[in-house]
Amino acid sequence: MSVLVYVENAEGKFKKSIFEAVSYAKSVAAQLDTSLIAISIGNVAQDELAKLAKYGANKTLNVNTEQLKTFVNQAYASVIAEAAKKENAEVVVLSNSFSGKGLAPRIGVKLEAAVISGAIELPDTTGGQFKVKRSAFSNKAFATVEATSKVKVISLTPNAYQVIEKAGEGNIEDFNAPVDQQDLKAVIKEVVRATDKVSLPDAELVVSAGRGLKGPENWGMIEELASLLGAATACSKPVSDADWRPHSEHVGQTGIAISPNLYIAIGISGAIQHLAGVSSSKVIVVINKDPEAPFFKVADYGIVGDAFEIVPKLIEAVKSLKA
Ligand code: FAD
Repeated sequence: MSVLVYVENAEGKFKKSIFEAVSYAKSVAAQLDTSLIAISIGNVAQDELAKLAKYGANKTLNVNTEQLKTFVNQAYASVIAEAAKKENAEVVVLSNSFSGKGLAPRIGVKLEAAVISGAIELPDTTGGQFKVKRSAFSNKAFATVEATSKVKVISLTPNAYQVIEKAGEGNIEDFNAPVDQQDLKAVIKEVVRATDKVSLPDAELVVSAGRGLKGPENWGMIEELASLLGAATACSKPVSDADWRPHSEHVGQTGIAISPNLYIAIGISGAIQHLAGVSSSKVIVVINKDPEAPFFKVADYGIVGDAFEIVPKLIEAVKSLKA
């Protein structure tokens, strides 16, 4: 028996959410008193793969074939399922990323496994049961799901589990799972980056603004603060509806749900539909001129004042810290 974790790479590197998934999978392996195997697909350098041992991977299966250089949902799911069978894995862990959301159910079907998506806590395995807490309806509710199948697939919500370093060692093995041509009907030929900015769903820091900014011409200071912090930019729904900002930045119930380490909300009232997509952020900072704005109720830090005075001061403060 083992636990298998799929470690997805972004241009040959692992993001923090992947080290979270490895740390989580290691804790599950410890609960089940078994070892942790990682599987990487694509072109990842040996020194990057070697980092996985630091977070508890006892062994890493490296699938680096020409056919699987770019992400192909069906083919990746087949290879991960094959690895799970080879390693006799009873739990398969993935990050609940864009690709993880597509892979988890496919792997689940191939392994006849229960799939628990969006897990936010370690499983409760007392008395041989297997129950996992997950979030539902944009974090407005939580469900504890009991899996009774032999194999379980868990996709872990980013930022829900901490990265834990272990002093372990692990080896790296090539794994050449056969690829079925049927699985390669749609392949990515080329990836063209639309922007060099930090991508919102993966961002650890987010600077977000709302209708309090009055118009699109005032977003220069938001962009500047975000760029100084290495943060992604986001906005409320009315802002993207009015075309002040692209729809890809709209967060909330009807937009993207994010859970960064830091969410700075500027000139956003904090309507329930907005909070639905951002309230699981680790730290929330709110800047609003109305002391009664609902956002202050969920803020860790609040600044009551005019964004047009406060944001430039923040920019100067960050610049002086960096100088
Ligand atoms: P406003 O409500 O107009 O608030 C602006 C805020 O800026 C106010 O609090 C004001 O005090 C403050 N302000 C004004 N001037 C300044 C200044 N100079 N300095 C500092 N603060 C200032 N909304 C979302 O965001 N995401 C969603 O996914 C979403 N989905 C929805 C789904 C449904 C079905 C419905 C009905 C609504 C949805 N909404 C969503 C809309 C939501 O209800 C709110 O209307 C919206 O979030 C308000 O956006 P806002 O806070 O930017 O604007």
